[in-house]
Amino acid sequence: MNIHEFQAKEILKKFGVEVPEGYVANTPDEAEKIAEKLGGGTVVVKAQIHAGGRGKGGGVKLAKSATEAREIASQIIGMNLVTHQTGPEGKKVTKVLIEEGVDIARELYLGIVLDRAKSRLVFMASTEGGVEIEKVAASTPEKIIKEYIDPAIGLQGFQARKIAFGLGLEGDQVKNAVKFLAALYRAFVQTDCSLAEINPLIVTKQGGVMALDAKINFDDNALYRHKEIAELRDLHEEEPLEVEAGKYNLNYIKLDGEVGCMVNGAGLAMATMDMIHISGSEPANFLDVGGGASAETVKNGFKIILSDKNVKAILINIFGGIVRCDRVAKGVIEAASTIDIGVPVVVRLEGTNAKEAAILLEESDVAFEVGRSFQDAAEKIAKAVLN
Ligand code: ADP
Ligand code: MG
Repeated sequence: MNIHEFQAKEILKKFGVEVPEGYVANTPDEAEKIAEKLGGGTVVVKAQIHAGGRGKGGGVKLAKSATEAREIASQIIGMNLVTHQTGPEGKKVTKVLIEEGVDIARELYLGIVLDRAKSRLVFMASTEGGVEIEKVAASTPEKIIKEYIDPAIGLQGFQARKIAFGLGLEGDQVKNAVKFLAALYRAFVQTDCSLAEINPLIVTKQGGVMALDAKINFDDNALYRHKEIAELRDLHEEEPLEVEAGKYNLNYIKLDGEVGCMVNGAGLAMATMDMIHISGSEPANFLDVGGGASAETVKNGFKIILSDKNVKAILINIFGGIVRCDRVAKGVIEAASTIDIGVPVVVRLEGTNAKEAAILLEESDVAFEVGRSFQDAAEKIAKAVLN
């Protein structure tokens, strides 16, 4: 789960991570009041959306007075902010963070993420802060310092110092950075984060080390342990169809193609998306209906897939391992009789009782095409899209 920058900063602050003082505003009025409360000097008005690159997109602006903060807030609140992370459609801004303006000496990068191959958290730090770290990783990977953390003993002092020295810090800056890293690590572990990204991590002109931006993701599987964090979820920031699918316990991710897919098992779903691509079209979604694939699940799957206006055809690809294919076929036929599908559907059922399933489908009233093999199904779907 993703949260807003202002929420991330509130959490980090509780763990002793240094952040600028700031408060969230929903209206230009509130923005002005907060700017006054912060002393009436320079503040930064920051759009709160679940995407980075806001600065370049015009969503982060300096205001030299409380009146200016109000003016800028009135421009940013309500704007459709487009960044390289939002996609061309952008995201609507409903609130801004009003934060004290900080004297920046250097902008650095710091991240913590789980390295699944090594089964360890890894700190990643770079002197190339403020810019897109993906570009640094691609063109100058040697500029990224990595420190792997032993889960049994946690972040060690020498590791924190190594990161600080690697970032070129000196004197008190090192001491401040070590304290910062330890606090960030504590916050990460205790709140079950899956990612923490501080870009930029800054060194102030006074030698302080501070998080100027904060992006945190939480492990969804651990959210039951953190009710107060689960409450921070902002459904407006999420893809509406994905939220809807979540209500039906469907594992759905919206994509940009035209072939809706309904598959059981995440691995088969990935392979199906690949096959669609190889056959010359693109998947409109990832959808794992889970092991059961009952009439109810299939019906909900159809509803979600058909809510996406880009869908020109649907490919159902189910492997009957635990679930029998004839039961799935009955489910598909039943679901199809209750909703108006309106686009071509290709069904490929493989595994237990696959033959019986094919007969059921062919003898039914529904005009589904049966895919005889994975390849055959993919070719049929590619043809259906063209028609
Ligand atoms: P994003 O990554 O979405 O563009 P950031 O929070 O990183 O947003 O802000 C972009 C840039 O704006 C930062 O790299 C920094 O230069 C500047 N900035 C952000 N917050 C402040 C602040 N409180 N004081 C001074 N400059 C800031
Ligand atoms: Mg940033």
